[in-house]
Amino acid sequence: MNSQKMGDLRIFKSLSEEGLSAWMKERGEPQFRVAQVLDWVYVKRCSSFEKMSNISQGLRQALAEEFLIPVLENVRKIGAADTTQKFLFKLRDGQLIESVLIPASPALYGEPTDRLTACLSSQVGCAYGCTFCASGLNGWKRNLEAGEIVEQLMLLEEISGNRVNNIVFMGMGEPFANFANLTKAIEILNASWGVGLGARHMTVSTSGLVPQIRQFAEFPLQVRLAISLHAATDIVRSKIMPINRRYPLSDLLEALDYFHLRKKQRITFEYILIKGINDGLDQAALLAQHARRVSAKVNLIPYNTVSGLSWERPELATQQVFFQSLVDQGISVTLRREKGHDIAAACGQLRLQSIQ
Ligand code: SAH
Ligand code: SF4
Repeated sequence: MNSQKMGDLRIFKSLSEEGLSAWMKERGEPQFRVAQVLDWVYVKRCSSFEKMSNISQGLRQALAEEFLIPVLENVRKIGAADTTQKFLFKLRDGQLIESVLIPASPALYGEPTDRLTACLSSQVGCAYGCTFCASGLNGWKRNLEAGEIVEQLMLLEEISGNRVNNIVFMGMGEPFANFANLTKAIEILNASWGVGLGARHMTVSTSGLVPQIRQFAEFPLQVRLAISLHAATDIVRSKIMPINRRYPLSDLLEALDYFHLRKKQRITFEYILIKGINDGLDQAALLAQHARRVSAKVNLIPYNTVSGLSWERPELATQQVFFQSLVDQGISVTLRREKGHDIAAACGQLRLQSIQ
């Protein structure tokens, strides 16, 4: 499943600079060819070795016999009226993933910013089975290769004609369950020879895989961390997120203490507001306590209804009371207006429609 091969060819965008350099060396090619080829792929955004006009015919052919550049095909696009665009991308083996372009931070309260954000998938499906989420409904299919993660970003930029300045790993899948490929993709997205996006402009979201949170604390790049918390007590969290039975809140918070200590950076708590489940002021009080402990800011997200699931979004008044309670407790908090809601295309739902 994790093999670099796709058919007989290796995915070019899974290669690091050292990997390409070693390949060139093996063939007796001069090292400046490495920078030339990387420039074609990541600066000129060329998707065919054939078109690399300053590379010798022999080397172009050898590259084409070994590597594959494009690995994704855009098969469907949904653009909400407010211009959040969701894409269904087909992988070489026919599997489908979702990637999303969000033009600005959709904060209703708190500080709005203007940036172009890409939301990327890390796996096909998800094994973690959170009861509110469409991505996990059909289980886990496979991990994405690093190059398949990198190419989502590049394809979004190609389709939109714009450069993305912010990446969130909040698409389909649990990024930390695909740790090696995720971190490799982040390195390529960050590298000056690659996409060149600052690490601080990338955020990995996890449902709370404790060992990987600790491992990520040792990752040298200053990538941001978001935790899908969604509940402030074990009873409520275990009800909606099975992962909490393996890593309860006490373990999770300890790992976050460690992460905060090592990285000295602000963590984000993602908190979906689900009617009658986690939207009470008792949860808000404990949420504030957890947030203060690990210096987290809180991002409240009104639940997006998923067809086939019975959860609902609370009334706006309830959302505002919850939000205000956190403000009153001195927590840095935003209440997000989820933009995909009206087109039934919140995360994971577009793919679900296509495979059912
Ligand atoms: N597996 C990772 C990252 C992908 S999910 C994680 O769980 O963090 C990205 C975010 O979307 C998570 O915070 C997830 O809980 C949230 N989400 C899932 N289903 C949702 C829904 N129906 N409405 C709103 N947010 C949802
Ligand atoms: Fe998987 Fe995240 Fe959805 Fe949970 S919320 S099922 S971990 S994608």
